Amino acid sequence: MTSRLFHRLLAASALAGSLAFSHAALAQTQAWADTTLSPDARADAAVAAMTQDEKLTLVFGYFSTNAAWQNGGTKKFVWFDDNTLDYAAGYVPAIARLGIPAQHETDAGVGVATQRSPTPRLRTALPSGIATAATWNPKTAFAGGAMIGNEAKLSGFNVQLAGGIDLLREPRNGRNFEYGGEDPLLAGTIDGNEIAGIQSNHIVSTLKHYAFNDQETNRNSVDVKIDDKSARQSDLLAFQFANEIGKPGSVMCSYNRVNGDYACENDWLLNQVLKTDWGFRGYVMSDWGATHSTTEAALNGLDQESGWAFDHSPYFAAALKEAVNDGHVPEARLDDMAHRILYALYANGAVDDPVNGDQSASIDWAAHAKTTQADSEESIVLLKNAGLLPVARTAKKIVLIGGHADFGVLSGGGSSQVYATGAKRFDGEGPDGFPGPLTYYASSPMAGLQARTHANITYVDGKDVKAAAAAAKGADLVIVFATQWTGEGFDVPNLSLPDNQDALINAVAAANKKTAVVLETGGPVLMPWLPKVGAVLEAWYPGTSGGEAIARVLTGEVNPSGHLPATFPMSESQLPRTVVDGDPAHEDGHPHTDYTIEGAAVGYKWFDKKGLKPLFPFGYGLSYSSFKLEALTAQPSGKGLTASFTMHNVGKAAGAEVAQVYVSPAFDAGWEAPKRLGGFVKLSLNPAELQQPAVTVDPRLLATYDSASKTWTVAAGDYKVMLGTSASDIVQTVTVHLDQQTLDVRGQ
Ligand code: BGC
Repeated sequence: MTSRLFHRLLAASALAGSLAFSHAALAQTQAWADTTLSPDARADAAVAAMTQDEKLTLVFGYFSTNAAWQNGGTKKFVWFDDNTLDYAAGYVPAIARLGIPAQHETDAGVGVATQRSPTPRLRTALPSGIATAATWNPKTAFAGGAMIGNEAKLSGFNVQLAGGIDLLREPRNGRNFEYGGEDPLLAGTIDGNEIAGIQSNHIVSTLKHYAFNDQETNRNSVDVKIDDKSARQSDLLAFQFANEIGKPGSVMCSYNRVNGDYACENDWLLNQVLKTDWGFRGYVMSDWGATHSTTEAALNGLDQESGWAFDHSPYFAAALKEAVNDGHVPEARLDDMAHRILYALYANGAVDDPVNGDQSASIDWAAHAKTTQADSEESIVLLKNAGLLPVARTAKKIVLIGGHADFGVLSGGGSSQVYATGAKRFDGEGPDGFPGPLTYYASSPMAGLQARTHANITYVDGKDVKAAAAAAKGADLVIVFATQWTGEGFDVPNLSLPDNQDALINAVAAANKKTAVVLETGGPVLMPWLPKVGAVLEAWYPGTSGGEAIARVLTGEVNPSGHLPATFPMSESQLPRTVVDGDPAHEDGHPHTDYTIEGAAVGYKWFDKKGLKPLFPFGYGLSYSSFKLEALTAQPSGKGLTASFTMHNVGKAAGAEVAQVYVSPAFDAGWEAPKRLGGFVKLSLNPAELQQPAVTVDPRLLATYDSASKTWTVAAGDYKVMLGTSASDIVQTVTVHLDQQTLDVRGQ
């Protein structure tokens, strides 16, 4: 069927339906339009007035790209003449007679993306998700979300496919840059706040990819094995926190299987955990190509099939209609799907404050550049500093090497790729097709340094190691910009920097001791050259103002305050899996990965449990100032506990510090690992300033989950409460006695 014919048939069936039901509709009081009613009541009224075909319209999404390659391919994509938002991720037609707007869906978590296009929309990109997690600042995450949500709205989108939160179990995962690191509390808090920021624009955000989509290798088929208890105490807990904080309108189910069933037809994940246990009221949309059935998916909790024609079959179109009419899927379930989608649209204001096509001319670019720059500045982690940074005012000759530092900064690849003014792909770098193009944003660290120092600054590209080492000789400071491009659809083969960059850094550091390294990576990397260099900054993928942010941190205009949201291992041999399971060359078959090996002991918890010393621990990050954390006290409060302490800037520079509170039972309480992050706070302090924050620990972080009774139990006994600046740097410990507490599945 041609797309036009398909479109006409769809329109004709909708018209017939609307005529048949027009009497019923008139009999209604149009309660769905009554803004004084609750989103639930409005969704009820709208569903009651809808024809079956209208409900079916709501549950079936199209890929929103009218690109030439679509027509030539084997997949039958559909383009709607009334959809003006091209090269976007998704489209669900409107139901105009009921005032239900079309759903215009865009990726993703760092900004408004464009599918590969000759004329991409040019938008502001935040630093990567893992970078925002490295700020440890929920307010920064909210501000970033609010900014990209504003750009989405002004671009005509009312659903943002953001909120990536799959836990960093696998440091080689190509999409770690989109996510929030390895800890459920940190990731859930940062992601939840970003989602809340996005939705403050009266649009819907997703939370994705639900769940255990922690590797890209064989992502469409890999079967993840995990037990209920470990799941609830790790990846699912991250989703649970983010859902509570961000209240996303939608959750996107992932490509992979979990315990045998595809995530998008997984009764345990969707019906039991998400909808029943957590009381999620919004809708579950599938990832693009992640739907595999009609009846099973519908009965097991999928509410909307996305991105047709990525799936093998249009499962939620005519096939769903047939399944409903044959009684395989109850009509009430179709009503529930439609209700959930409408609930999310009403609850977030997407109906009452609708998008209005492309209004991007009114985007406040200058303000948005400041927002992304502030996020990046706060996310950069100073990993080592033997007195090399900030750049000395007396430096006369600075040599920059590699990473296109004369031009800009790297971004991550795949569906989340945001294009920006001046962004560039360098010839021969990265793949021609998806997840490319390998893109650098035009924000030059070199220009940023030139504007802030009197030094003579030169650049060499570092491709010729000998030439780079020769150029480094005699300079007052050498800065190597080392990059690791990661992207959707592939994992990195190992944690080493690619393209001979370790050899480059070794050679440059041998030529000049005053060598600093700026890393632009998707996640953890190995640093065999670490003892030989004088300073290391982890700048992640720093977004469209990243060069400016890096320059300000290097020169001390900004005091670094990022802390690692993930453990940096010494080697792959320290990981639960020394290689990523599966085979990138073979998607078929039944690849498995066993997460019961580490269970809930993800990241630092695994390192603690195994007594392994990482290269850099979770939570680690230095400053140009120094802080004293002391006077720790802890007391039971509610069903959890509260820790209070002092934070004192005892250095000469103003700066921010992240205080981390870890908790640990002083007896065998059956935890997955010796300790967990229980809470954290980031405070900006002037020199000599002292503050006394209090941090509350959610009782779920003191408890173990019991699958049979669906309760969390805090066992009675003594608990160590530890104040630290990383998982390995504990500065003070106190003990508090807790009585036994039982909490329901929602932690209440
Ligand atoms: C990705 C999702 C994305 C979707 C739409 C998929 O390939 O996994 O994260 O939202 O495409 O572009």
